[in-house]
This record gives sequence, structure tokens and C-alpha cells, in this order.
Amino acid sequence: MPSNRTFTMIKPDAVENGYVGAIINKINASGFRIVSMKMTQMSLRDAKLFYEVHKERPFFSELVSFMSRGPIVAAILEKENAVDDFRTLIGATNPEEAAEGTLRKQFATSMGENAVHGSDSNENAEIEGAFHFSVREMF
Ligand code: UDP
Ligand code: MG
Repeated sequence: MPSNRTFTMIKPDAVENGYVGAIINKINASGFRIVSMKMTQMSLRDAKLFYEVHKERPFFSELVSFMSRGPIVAAILEKENAVDDFRTLIGATNPEEAAEGTLRKQFATSMGENAVHGSDSNENAEIEGAFHFSVREMF
């Protein structure tokens, strides 16, 4: 995957709360092109694999049960400086610390249920994008 791409998920809380359309609008308005997108649901096993780097953290079990409890919208996004610019758009992990105008400030419920995922490096963007999409689903 080219290094101008990032991977995102609109998390189960934001899907349940009806924020999918508003979040996609903001992503488009911020200059990201949609390369891949689908609504899907991770099994508990999928979520454990996806978040394997966090498996020793105290919040791991809560995180994987949350992320597999309902549908998500997974997407690959393209823009110059995509990884960093998307992290800026989503805001801090804890919505109470997220800047005004960020997706987490606007749509997150809590530190765990924080509405949107964004890859933290080009390498992880590639791994996470390939976790959810085949090359035939990247446009
Ligand atoms: N998380 C949590 N409690 C914490 C830290 C993280 O429940 O103390 C959850 C939260 O959903 C977060 C995800 O685990 O988005 C991954 O954590 P990470 O530190 O990678 O934060 P992110 O990169 O998503 O900002
Ligand atoms: Mg992270």
C-alpha cells in the first residue's frame, strides 16, 4: 500500500449512535479520498488479532469485546501525509483531551468507546488495510 494511505474504522459505538454519515462527510471535507470502504463486523477472534499489539494492556479484553459487539465501517483513505493528518482529524484517544473540531471530540463517548480508529504509522496502515481488504477492493 502506498505511504500516502491510512486505515480507519468507524467503531461500533459511532455506528450504533447513527454517526456514520456525519463522520464520512467530515473525512471527505478534510480532503481524504476513499480507496476502500465497507460495513463489516469483527468476530472476537478478529478483534484479538487486529489489536494483538495491545494484548498485555489492562484494557485489552474490554477493547476486543467492544470492537466485536456490532458492525463497524472499515476504510482505506488517501491523502498526502495521510497517517498524521488523519490522527490530527480524529484527535486524542481520550475524547476529554481531544481538540475542538476533531472526530473524537464530536462523536466519542469515552476513552474506550472513542468512535474512530486511525493507523499510527505507514507500516501499520498497510497491515491493517490488508487485514480488512483484498487488493481487488482497493480503488
Ligand atoms: N483504549 C482503552 N483504554 C485506554 C487506552 C486505549 O479502552 O486506556 C482503547 C481505545 O478504544 C483506543 C484503543 O484502545 O482507541 C487503542 O489504543 P491506542 O493507545 O492505540 O489509542 P489510539 O491509537 O486509538 O488513539
Ligand atoms: Mg493506536
